[in-house]
Amino acid sequence: MELEDKYGAHNYHPIPVVLSKGLGAKVWDVEGKEYLDFLSAYSAVNQGHCHPKIIKALTDQAQKLTLTSRAFYNDALGVYEKYITGYFGYDKILPMNSGAEADETALKLIRKWAYLKKGIPENEAKIIVCANNFHGRTITIISMSTDPDAKNDFGPYTPGFITIPYNDLDALAKALEDKYVAGFLVEPIQGEAGVMVPDEGYLKKAYEMCKANNVLFVADEVQTGIARTGKLLACDHEGVRPDVLILGKALSGGAYPISAVLADDDIMLTIKPGEHGSTFGGNPLAARIAVAALEVIHEEKLAERAEKMGTIFRNGLRAIKSDMVAEVRGKGLLNAMVIAPKNGKTAWDVCLKMAELGLLAKPTHDHIIRFAPPLVIEEEDLKRALNIVETALKFFN
Ligand code: PLP
Repeated sequence: MELEDKYGAHNYHPIPVVLSKGLGAKVWDVEGKEYLDFLSAYSAVNQGHCHPKIIKALTDQAQKLTLTSRAFYNDALGVYEKYITGYFGYDKILPMNSGAEADETALKLIRKWAYLKKGIPENEAKIIVCANNFHGRTITIISMSTDPDAKNDFGPYTPGFITIPYNDLDALAKALEDKYVAGFLVEPIQGEAGVMVPDEGYLKKAYEMCKANNVLFVADEVQTGIARTGKLLACDHEGVRPDVLILGKALSGGAYPISAVLADDDIMLTIKPGEHGSTFGGNPLAARIAVAALEVIHEEKLAERAEKMGTIFRNGLRAIKSDMVAEVRGKGLLNAMVIAPKNGKTAWDVCLKMAELGLLAKPTHDHIIRFAPPLVIEEEDLKRALNIVETALKFFN
């Protein structure tokens, strides 16, 4: 901790535990103390820490070939591309590394499509985004942000965005009146904002409105995707198939930075050679890892598991009697508890207490605790977690 403090940039404020090992839903610190991981690296570790199948794919491929760049073909990328496009039902994938890069890719794709297909005059394309969104940390992405911490003193910002309130179809209808709108970028559940679940029907209606206006419906499923919310994609809850799908995090099960943008030919082929890319995007190591990570989701029925365990967990959280609990919300195993501070004690204090008791979670926006364990968590560990949450809250009552 001292080393990080002295030699690392201070762009994070971690819970003070130093982890050195992980397996399934559990992690251990350098002193051997065991914790249940209820963050899962912001939903990257859906398949559980160090999943044997994913680690095998990693180690096997790491001894053969790790990086070729896209200057040449490699014998893993095409296999991955065929697998993932079939898995999610799209014509094409554009492979990247981080979630932010995949979001950036999607934004570029929307703009290209706007000019080449929709016929919007050059440099006039607009993209509708939602207040309190989180799509990453690049300059363009923070230009879409409404969070002062993400945004302040990083200007000038990238233009071309219209911000509307989340979960507000009237605002969307109004924004769609602008003929230069090319895309609507939305998180099916706003994770970083505090697990904000929109009204039932919101995504479906928003999708239909986009269709009626020849606007691309673009879903950022970096956090909600890959079984986290009880379906393969959170959009599946409403039968919505995004025109552009953005994935990251659990695409590798936490073993490697892997992200992707999926779309059909009509959209994806607007980008030509040389117009976008990444040295590491689509490397053979990532390709093998992603196939294994997606296979695990399917083989272990992790979406169904998230649905079942999520219901048990949410019901358990709601049964906890504490006047510090203002609200419990979520879907599948993406859940949050809104904490009403008491005697100066906040969500941060609750998280510290839970860590002491063997459960790791982190507040988002000061007063919200997100609970997102690996989807492989056993029911008895889930119940143990509920006991810890209750004990921690009781401590401050
Ligand atoms: N999009 C969403 C919805 C996210 O939750 C995140 C990260 O939390 C990102 C994008 C950015 O991903 P990354 O941190 O890999 O750049």
